[in-house]
Amino acid sequence: MIPREDYFPGTDPSLTELLHAEGLRLFGVAALDDSLRRAAAPAAAQYTEWIAAGLHGEMAYLERHEGIAYRPEAVLPGCRAVIVVGCNYYQEPRRENEPATGRVARYAWGRDYHNALGKRLRRVVRRLREVHPDDGFRSFVDASPLSERFFAEHAGIGYTGRHTLTISSAYGSWFFLGEILTTRSLPSTAVDEPVHGGCPTNCLRCGEICPTGALTGYHRMDARRCISYLTIEHRGSISEELRPLMGDWVFGCDLCQEACPLNVRSRVTAVEDFRVHRAGERMPLAELLDMADDEAYRRRFAGTPLLRPGRNAMVRNACIAAGNTGAAALSPRLQRLTNDRNPLVREHAQWALARLGQT
Ligand code: SF4
Repeated sequence: MIPREDYFPGTDPSLTELLHAEGLRLFGVAALDDSLRRAAAPAAAQYTEWIAAGLHGEMAYLERHEGIAYRPEAVLPGCRAVIVVGCNYYQEPRRENEPATGRVARYAWGRDYHNALGKRLRRVVRRLREVHPDDGFRSFVDASPLSERFFAEHAGIGYTGRHTLTISSAYGSWFFLGEILTTRSLPSTAVDEPVHGGCPTNCLRCGEICPTGALTGYHRMDARRCISYLTIEHRGSISEELRPLMGDWVFGCDLCQEACPLNVRSRVTAVEDFRVHRAGERMPLAELLDMADDEAYRRRFAGTPLLRPGRNAMVRNACIAAGNTGAAALSPRLQRLTNDRNPLVREHAQWALARLGQT
C-alpha cells in the first residue's frame, strides 16, 4: 500500500510545493475526463434518489445542489480538474466520562476548519494565479455545492466507507476535505489498484454502533436520524423517540468513526489550529444551559464550528444530554429554562426534568 502523502502527482511540482508549504500532504487531482463523467452519472442518480426519499432532512441546500453536485464546470466555467486536499484533524480524547458535560465531535474541538483550511487554500490559489495567470482557480472548504467525497475518491485520496465518509490510508476518516477547481488541464491521480483498500467484507461496526440507526445500508445515511445532523443542522424539536438515544452528545458525533477498524492508523494532527482547543472535547452542560442569548453564544463560540446551531438549538442539545446523563444537579437550571422565552428550549427542558424524575 502506498501512503497517499508520499504519492506525489509529479505533474505539477509547483502545486506539490505550494501544498506542502501549507502543511497539506494528502492531495490528488480528479481530472474531468470521460471516465469521471461516466462515473458521475450513476452517482448523481443516487444523489437524486436520496433527496427524493427525503433522507437529507431539512438541509435544503442539498436540494439546491442536486443539479450541480457532480458538475464542477457549473461552479467554475471551463473547469477541467478538481484538486482535492485532505487535512488531518485527529486528536486523542483526554476527558472521558466527565459528569455533567456534553461531548463534542473531534472536528470541532479547535478552530473552525472552514477558516483554518480555507485560508491555506486561498494562499495556494493566490500563488497559482501568479504562476498560471491564464488559468482560473477557485477554492472551497465544505461550502461548495460539489459532492466532495465523489471527487476525493476520483482523485485517489481514498474511498467512501459504508458510513459515507472518505477513508484514506494516511488518516483513516479523520480529515477535512477542501478543493481547488481549475481550468488548467491536470492529469488525474486516481489509481486503478486498490491503494486504500476497502471496507472489510461483513464489517458492520459503524452501522451497529450508531444508537439512532442512521446508517440504513451501505453508503446510505438517513440524516434525519444522525446525531450530527440533529445537533448541528436541525433547528426544531427533536423527536422523543430519538432523544434518549443521543447520550451525552451536544455537538456532532464520532461513534461510527471510533468504531471503524480502519481508523486504528490514526495519528494526531500537526495542524496547530486544530490542536488548540477553543470549544474542547467536553462542554460543561451548566455553561451551555446558562447561555442567555445569541449574543453571549456568539461571543463564546466565535471562530469555532459550534457557532453554527446557535444558542437555542445548543441549549436544546444540552437539555437532552442533561436528561440522558442523569445530571440531577442541573435541575434548577432546567427548571429555570421551562420559562425560557424560546418554546424549543422550554419543551426540551421539560422533557429533561421528566427524564430526571423531577416533574
Ligand atoms: S466500520 Fe467497517 S463498514 Fe463501517 S466504514 Fe469502517 S470498515 Fe467500513
